Amino acid sequence: MKAEIIAVGTELLLGDILNTNARFIARQLAELGITLQYQTVVGDNEQRLSEALDIAFNRADIIITSGGLGPTDDDITKETAAKYFNKEMVLDERSRDRLLTYFKGRNMSPTNMKQVYMPKGAIVLDNDNGTAPGCIITDKGKTIAVLPGPPSELVPMFENGVRSYLEKQQEFTLVSKVLHLSGIGESAAAEQIRELMQKSSNPTIAPYAKTNEMVFRITARGKDKEECQALIKPVADEIYSRLGQFIYGEDDETLVSAVMKRLIEKGLTVASAESCTGGMVASRLIDYPGASAVFMTGFVTYTNESKAKFLGVSEDTLEKYGAVSPQTAEEMCIGAAERSGADIGISTTGIAGPGGGTAEKPVGLVYIGVSVKGKAVTKKLQLSGSRNKIRNAAAAAAIELLRQQIIQEDKNGKSKN
Ligand code: AMP
Ligand code: MG
Repeated sequence: MKAEIIAVGTELLLGDILNTNARFIARQLAELGITLQYQTVVGDNEQRLSEALDIAFNRADIIITSGGLGPTDDDITKETAAKYFNKEMVLDERSRDRLLTYFKGRNMSPTNMKQVYMPKGAIVLDNDNGTAPGCIITDKGKTIAVLPGPPSELVPMFENGVRSYLEKQQEFTLVSKVLHLSGIGESAAAEQIRELMQKSSNPTIAPYAKTNEMVFRITARGKDKEECQALIKPVADEIYSRLGQFIYGEDDETLVSAVMKRLIEKGLTVASAESCTGGMVASRLIDYPGASAVFMTGFVTYTNESKAKFLGVSEDTLEKYGAVSPQTAEEMCIGAAERSGADIGISTTGIAGPGGGTAEKPVGLVYIGVSVKGKAVTKKLQLSGSRNKIRNAAAAAAIELLRQQIIQEDKNGKSKN
């Protein structure tokens, strides 16, 4: 089954507003396993919309439109769709009653009545968030779903009325599982499962690189959800067995939510000591609702003096190895934990650029550290890109190191018992 999206509106065409409806619908279609090969934007013009419908129906079975359902004369989508299907417009009594209730006690412009005339025989889609109902017209194997422009109306209408309609048209179901990986690059991760990706067609495995992490999306097609999940399981298990140490979570999990859940579960508290990231690590951890249960203090110690004063980094270390060194990163994380009474300290120190680099310590050199109960590990990073990119990547890497150390702490705990 092939679908196309036609977004109607001169304001879209001219770039005054962003076509977020197309993005939303496209993602929904992908989730439903419906093929989408074209999207069109057309102004509020009957002739050009009608041409766009012709072209799209030559290629696809389903068209989803957004916009042009308002009460004014330039809102022509529904009428144009009706003409295409040779349907006359008839008053939909239920929609009229809903409209009158909507305007009860308020003044309604007579032009609003236009919105409750629907193509004869169409499925009417209630609009719980506005005045324009949508509709679905089907004839001779072709279907059009006509939806309102405001996203606050289109999204719920799609979710409540259109999705289940489309699901019924599909003879199969698609289910995806997303595995999130951190601490490994896309090509290195893909390399580990290359032949698995090649030989696997149901489910398919698709790798995506994201900012500071990557994901594998495993998608199965089957007659129902259970069948899909059964197809996904052995493949997911195999990926876990090869790359498990890098997989921090599934589906909606984020690196921070995975780490914070672990900390809360274990009752481990954390403090941060940041130089080049200037509070980004603290800010990300605190993004997690309920962070107060485990996050104690965040130090932003940008100068050598403050690293010594607030974290107890020794002047010797700073002089001998410099602020950007594994030794300083180590003393910073230990100091943050000690000074705030936390179990874990996490630190960053580096050269974010664009200036300040030397041959020995170039821009992008960052040391991160994590101490658990006084024992620290540090890691050297050589990052590239803008100042902002380097700082973001350093913060992400520090949180990833924190995740690894919590896992390590878990293992140590288990082997002692
Ligand atoms: P319309 O029904 O075409 O008059 O659209 C009403 C309003 O919905 C517009 O003024 C926009 O604010 C919004 N809108 C229309 N189409 C889209 C779209 N494709 N994506 C996001 N917002 C839209
Ligand atoms: Mg419009």
